[in-house]
Amino acid sequence: MSYLNFEEITTGIQLLATEYGDFCDLVTLPHTSVETRQVHALALGDTRGPDMKTVIYVGGVHAREWIPPDALVYLAADLLEARKGGTGLTYGEARITADEISQIFANMQLLILPCANPDGRVYSQEVDPDWRKNRVPNPMPDGGMCHGVDLNRNFDVAWDFRRTFAPNAVSASDDPCHKYIYVGPEAASEPETRNIVWLLDHYTGARWYLDIHSAVPAVFHNWGLDDIQTDTPEMNFLNPAHDGQRGIAGDTAYREFIEEADAAELLRLSQLMAKEIHKVRGDDYEVSAAFSLYATSGASDDYAYSRHHANQDKPKVLGFTMECGHDFQPEFNEAENVMREVSAALVKFAADVSTTAIA
Ligand SMILES: [Zn+2]
Repeated sequence: MSYLNFEEITTGIQLLATEYGDFCDLVTLPHTSVETRQVHALALGDTRGPDMKTVIYVGGVHAREWIPPDALVYLAADLLEARKGGTGLTYGEARITADEISQIFANMQLLILPCANPDGRVYSQEVDPDWRKNRVPNPMPDGGMCHGVDLNRNFDVAWDFRRTFAPNAVSASDDPCHKYIYVGPEAASEPETRNIVWLLDHYTGARWYLDIHSAVPAVFHNWGLDDIQTDTPEMNFLNPAHDGQRGIAGDTAYREFIEEADAAELLRLSQLMAKEIHKVRGDDYEVSAAFSLYATSGASDDYAYSRHHANQDKPKVLGFTMECGHDFQPEFNEAENVMREVSAALVKFAADVSTTAIA
């Protein structure tokens, strides 16, 4: 066994959609990648559709993080096999019962996008293992060319970091030749970013968004913009009065507002996942707001959560980023251990929220 390439990821989920047609649909995303690859997701559930209560699982945003796309393909296969066979699932000491599996499928939809950045995956597996961004060409004034935008800095939440953040406070760059964290020419400039925006627009029943990365290991939740606080609502990412103050750790000049109930639920669900991960082989994943890693602008988990705050007509979506395992590309037998951790966490997450009523 070895890591899947992008073609195998695509054929893998196409085969699942054929074999388990009663329990899932293949979803073709509206935008092809920069290098014109078609991107697919799977919608799992006894009933599927845009209005269904939905959790979104995304992988492969960062190309060099090879485990998450594989983990999501195998997770989909495990769930579908268990649903069809009427069985539970076991990952080490983490167990989910057959009843919980049927409850997940009966009550909600799991939208799984295993590889959001296909061109990056191909480039990382074939040319440069350290490649992180997509592969868009960025022409330079001197006639040269640099490639790629960091998709996880390209979303429309405090994207314009030079205006919104304090100087040098955020992990973001407007240098098109920065190898890792170039934010792109404008928010949501990249088709791979717009596919994820489309998922959030189209699946109006979505209430949870989990972006699977590697490798810290940790389970992060909103916000990544700054430390969080629950008592000053006007101190938020939309308020221009606080431009230039965001992103500094440990200060009180600016901290990002979060509703107390949301903070509690984000923490509860993050801890639930970390606890389940621990049962697989005893690994301890840190649980905290994403800012504890470093300040980020334009990240997808914050974008998912920010949409409701920017426009109250949009539903509230809680955002999480799992940073699985300890290395980007470990030997495959270690990758399989990490995949079990991811699967145990995401299945438990789904079982838990399958009993939550949504507005
Ligand atoms: Zn990442």
